[in-house]
Amino acid sequence: MSDALRVAVVGAAGRMGAELLELITDATQLELGAALVPRARAGSELGSARVVARSDIAGGVADSDVVVDFSTPAGFSDALEAAVTHLRPFVSGTTGLSSAHHAAVERASATIPVLVAANFSVGVHVVARLTRLAAEALEGFDIEIFEAHHRNKVDAPSGTALFLGEAAAAGRGVDLDASAVWSRRGTSKPRGDEEIGFQVLRGGSIVGEHTSFFCGAGERVEITHRAQDRRIFAAGALRAARWLIERPPGLYTMDDVLFGEG
Ligand code: NAD
Repeated sequence: MSDALRVAVVGAAGRMGAELLELITDATQLELGAALVPRARAGSELGSARVVARSDIAGGVADSDVVVDFSTPAGFSDALEAAVTHLRPFVSGTTGLSSAHHAAVERASATIPVLVAANFSVGVHVVARLTRLAAEALEGFDIEIFEAHHRNKVDAPSGTALFLGEAAAAGRGVDLDASAVWSRRGTSKPRGDEEIGFQVLRGGSIVGEHTSFFCGAGERVEITHRAQDRRIFAAGALRAARWLIERPPGLYTMDDVLFGEG
């Protein structure tokens, strides 16, 4: 019997799903447990291995060792529920999650190991660390977070932009909710000192770009990450899945996986 890790891919018919299916097909220590899609897509053949997609999420999760979800907030909720029911570690990269989703993640982590990350690239986690450091050191500099993504992305600003905003807020010792400015229009007042601004661009096939701007009087620091291939996110999520399978129930982060700390 194979001792490869069986992965349930939730959102298998999507862009990230396609990357995950290809990486799993190529990996010797991984096997596809189930390719999970909404009911309308069940029975279709996906990827170069032409795997048959299924929509019975509970059954697909039960047939797997670990769940990797890149879908939508609704798909995320179904996948998390199935993971808790069948006691499977749960990895998700789905963005656009609400505070209710995060509360569900917190509850689930009492029973299973859970890792939810807005960005699975190593580079972005380094950028977050640098953003926090810069926010701390560059006193009086104005902070703005810029992000650009492909024209089909529905949530804005990106989960990664929010993650960088949190890092900047932590560096400044302020609350992001109180400091965030989501867009600018009008003529009534200048920028406030504590504002952390978010700027969003949507267009074409941009995989994902993020810059933390620190604008001072007479100088400017920019810390940029550019994703060129979405395969990096799939590879990071599978790395997290392999790491998570060994852990006790709890809430983990990519920092735990990449840097061995919380
Ligand atoms: P996509 O629209 O191409 O794919 C999403 C897929 O999920 C669709 O095929 C949809 O049919 C499917 N889906 C919806 N509900 C489902 C359900 N109940 N069961 C199974 N499948 C379901 O989107 P994408 O580009 O693949 O991105 C998916 C998610 O991952 C988005 O939230 C995106 O922002 C996020 N994302 C995260 C990272 C990261 O590193 N964390 C990287 C890229 C994308």
